[in-house]
Amino acid sequence: MVFACDHCKFLFSRTTEPEQCPDCGKFAVRAANQEEVADYQAIVEEFKRESA
Ligand SMILES: [Zn+2]
Repeated sequence: MVFACDHCKFLFSRTTEPEQCPDCGKFAVRAANQEEVADYQAIVEEFKRESA
């Protein structure tokens, strides 16, 4: 499942919803919307290509 931070817009994947953003530490985490999930997946794919 993908989550987004409303404070810094950081996108990250976790199996359970964290209370705090792993990037900025704010308690502003919510489930990512469809558009953000697509963004996240594109970033992951890009990272895979670069590290391959
Ligand atoms: Zn954040």
